Amino acid sequence: MKTKQIIKRAREFAKPFRVSKGKDFRLKNVDPGDTLEFTKEADKPRAKEALKMGLSALTELQDKLYAQDKWAVLLMFQAMDAAGKDGAIKHVMSGINPQGCEVYSFKSPSSEDLDHDYLWRCMKCLPNRGHIGIFNRSYYEEVLVVRVHPEFLAKQKLPPKLVDKKIWQQRFEDIRNFEQYLARNGVVVRKFFLHVSRKEQKRRFLDRIDDPLKNWKFSSNDAAERDYWDDYMEAYEKMIQETATTGAPWYVVPADNKWFTRVVVAGAVIETLASLDLAYPKVDQGKLKELAAAKKKLLSK
Ligand code: ATP
Ligand code: MG
Repeated sequence: MKTKQIIKRAREFAKPFRVSKGKDFRLKNVDPGDTLEFTKEADKPRAKEALKMGLSALTELQDKLYAQDKWAVLLMFQAMDAAGKDGAIKHVMSGINPQGCEVYSFKSPSSEDLDHDYLWRCMKCLPNRGHIGIFNRSYYEEVLVVRVHPEFLAKQKLPPKLVDKKIWQQRFEDIRNFEQYLARNGVVVRKFFLHVSRKEQKRRFLDRIDDPLKNWKFSSNDAAERDYWDDYMEAYEKMIQETATTGAPWYVVPADNKWFTRVVVAGAVIETLASLDLAYPKVDQGKLKELAAAKKKLLSK
């Protein structure tokens, strides 16, 4: 398949899950078990094949992004535990030259982080021009876990008179403005919410408990967070409603089937890169002369 066709396919996989206008977004309209046209287990190899071709197109696009050195791409991943963030990142990365890509994970903030505004630690990790930056969690935790657990907000050392019930609306506004600022500076922002069902999360946790090779992945704290499931879903829905924009859309990706999640994420990354005017830099007359002279010299000895 030609790159053009692969890009067309990638758009078909990504489009149904792209949210560019948040206003009417409802989480209940996205089925975590959705697999689009791949209805049967037997379709899995076809999806895997599509992913493989997608990754080769991705390699080509990233090479141009790097050579052109104008745009930067920031991909952010948010999800409940065990939704498959790490696996999705790993798969997309496999089509990418590590030289032009950095991955950062944002865990509980350190005391140094808490001594600053909440965007500070993420700003330090923004991608260079020509690079792809991947955030495994991000400043969106500030309207998710921090909203669900007010004790985290209390630890942020904010002046008390700045903390009232308007704070979430203000954070959404600041995030929208920040992402617009990035867009205006050539940093292309795309956000992914891997939407796993509560039932599938339970199955994956049990698997982590039963399989000795996966024991390390299990934390009882993750399981305890299940008690707050509905609060999280509400926070995710609001976050998407308030921060999905044309310039920085969310992709709400069904995550009950890992192989499908990966196809959609790869599709979204490909459609993003393909939407940029990527091209290898043109070589000017001076450079052409320099190349010709170098060739002559090399051939003369
Ligand atoms: P894994 O998938 O390997 O478990 P993880 O991203 O869940 O990776 P953990 O160390 O298990 O990593 O968890 C990080 C925790 O940090 C999450 O529970 C997340 O909600 C929390 N966290 C991230 N950012 C913030 C923040 N700004 N304030 C409070 N907690 C945060
Ligand atoms: Mg975790």
